Amino acid sequence: NQIEFIQTANIPGTDDEKPEITEKQRKKLNIEETKKSLPIYKFKKDLIQAIKDHQILIIEGETGSGKTTQIPQYLYEAGFTDNDKRIGCTQPRRVAAMSVAARVAEEMSVKLGNEVGYSIRFEDCTSERTIIKYMTDGTLHREFLSEPDLQSYSVMIVDEAHERTLHTDILFGLVKDVIRFRPDLKLLISSATLDAQKFSEFFDDAPIFRIPGRRFPVDIYYTKAPEADYIDACVVSILQIHVTQPLGDILVFLTGQEEIETCNELLQERVRRLGSQIKELIILPVYSNLPTDMQAKIFEPTPPNARKVVLATNIAETSLTIDNIIYVIDPGFCKQNNFNSRTGMESLVVVPISKASANQRAGRAGRVAAGKCFRLYTAWAYKSELDDNTVPEIQRINLGNAVLMLKALGINDLIHFDFLDPPPHETLVLALEQLYALGALNHKGELTKLGRRMAEFPLDPLMAKMLLASEKYKCSEEIASIAAMLSVNSAIFYRPKDKLVLADTARKNFFVHGGDHLALLNIYNQWANTDFSTNWCYENYIQHRSMRRARDVRDQLVGLMQRVEMEIVSNPTETVNIRKAITAGYFYHIARLSKGHYRTVKHNQTVMIHPNSSLFEELPRWVLYHELVFTTKEFMRQVTEIESKWLLEVAPHYYQDRELEDSTNKKLPKTLGKTNSELKNY
Ligand code: ADP
Ligand code: MG
Repeated sequence: NQIEFIQTANIPGTDDEKPEITEKQRKKLNIEETKKSLPIYKFKKDLIQAIKDHQILIIEGETGSGKTTQIPQYLYEAGFTDNDKRIGCTQPRRVAAMSVAARVAEEMSVKLGNEVGYSIRFEDCTSERTIIKYMTDGTLHREFLSEPDLQSYSVMIVDEAHERTLHTDILFGLVKDVIRFRPDLKLLISSATLDAQKFSEFFDDAPIFRIPGRRFPVDIYYTKAPEADYIDACVVSILQIHVTQPLGDILVFLTGQEEIETCNELLQERVRRLGSQIKELIILPVYSNLPTDMQAKIFEPTPPNARKVVLATNIAETSLTIDNIIYVIDPGFCKQNNFNSRTGMESLVVVPISKASANQRAGRAGRVAAGKCFRLYTAWAYKSELDDNTVPEIQRINLGNAVLMLKALGINDLIHFDFLDPPPHETLVLALEQLYALGALNHKGELTKLGRRMAEFPLDPLMAKMLLASEKYKCSEEIASIAAMLSVNSAIFYRPKDKLVLADTARKNFFVHGGDHLALLNIYNQWANTDFSTNWCYENYIQHRSMRRARDVRDQLVGLMQRVEMEIVSNPTETVNIRKAITAGYFYHIARLSKGHYRTVKHNQTVMIHPNSSLFEELPRWVLYHELVFTTKEFMRQVTEIESKWLLEVAPHYYQDRELEDSTNKKLPKTLGKTNSELKNY
């Protein structure tokens, strides 16, 4: 079966420079040659001068022009670190921070973690010697807590600013404030596309430094009819390109690890069946949980007479540049964390991308030669179904975490915080209410002692609260393991296609009474009892890598628990207390079974237990869920059975007796009443 594509559009190139594909593909350029071949190289001197002349500079350049990897090195060469201060560079994505740091360390011939390092949540690969530090925007956000004036930095680069993640948006306001009393600190805002003007205006009309990109024309193809199954359509398109088109690598945009793995398996299988009828096809996945050595593979040059196909998440849209991509396959979707401020419900959803995103993706095909982009949707869908731009995260996600951090930084007046684009008022109020219900804020909207301790954890407030509550319930060891396991939850089980039954049986063997959180604990404990054995993981269809990560995360959480002077206690036989501690954090995520359906307690939304849950067949009356994932329905993932009376115990100012009665009449939820309006003043 084939997919019929129609070409209707073309993104023109920028100039008529000769394609570099042949030269670049034939030989691996050495590092010096590569650095010199980047568009930014010609502007090195001017750029450094502009940075010397201005405290704030907006830098705009096409993806791949060398902003992220080169600018910190130029600054280092120009002496910006001579004063024993560092150059910091933020990235919205963990993988990008790690991968770029590795690349720069290589370019500078230093060991990663020494002069060049990175710092991401739960992983700090820097040292005293580090002068170029890549980090996620969330990590810098946290650094403000211990170093509000960024004293250890001489230059801060807020990179990939166009991504407009929540953390980046909040950083804008924070750094804008810092530079007023740090005249010696340079601030660079670097962005791939059109937002430069907006950034400039926000930063008091800071000058814009434009790096003209090199871009070759890209032909755009659309499907003639909508594709029902885009993963299958990807596989078909990849093979179609492979068989009919000249050599050149393919980049495919999928929404997440699961999709990438499915696509990978399907593709491997078909390639195997085709055998020697086709040229070699090297399939490489990229997503954020991928181990570093696997990530590095995507940058290796493709051998002659073979074709590389990279199956990537949104990360390859602008954060990572993979050379020699000639073909892009774009199904038109990405995964988004969406928050409904009306219902207070948050869920992960696969949504159509914006036109701006679609064009960024297409642009990936024209970096080294004329390319082609195959969109797995119709031209009509592009025109009438895609929004022009992606809505910035701050306007569509839960702000609980951000508000807690800002409060911890002493910023009390959130309504008047300097936002590039302000969040919706009701989302802000909801976050304040949530923090109040969790006990992190008092009725005046001030941080409580509990709130201060919660802010020490680089976690969602609900999870931070769960950890802190474990002290009271004497199960901090267990809750630390559960929190660590939840932090890696999507990738714990290994399900090879040819051993699905065995794998699922192995998974079910871990089920215990009480629900999925306890099953996760069971897995962790069993593994710990084998002295963290790799073999045990293989035998039980558990991903060893994820477990190792869980162990690292756990170690750090325990460290933080000690830092806030929690008593680390354990009671391995008591599961009610463990579940109560979880409820103390997640009492917002409660659903009740009534007339055969689960509905959330506060908003009466219909939700279902995920088929992978240990409670899928048990259907307890009251359940707590870790997260909602929307696929065909709203599914609760990681579900635990609770008793309704616990809610009154752990969240007395959020729940009241009457709404927890086992009657089926819908009762009005208790509102925060006066407190609610009081909170609005903050
Ligand atoms: P920009 O930030 O402007 O998008 P980058 O500095 O990220 O550009 O990329 C410049 C070049 O560095 C690209 O050609 C890219 O392929 C290369 N590069 C980036 N990271 C790596 C890596 N880990 N390994 C090899 N090459 C890399
Ligand atoms: Mg970059």
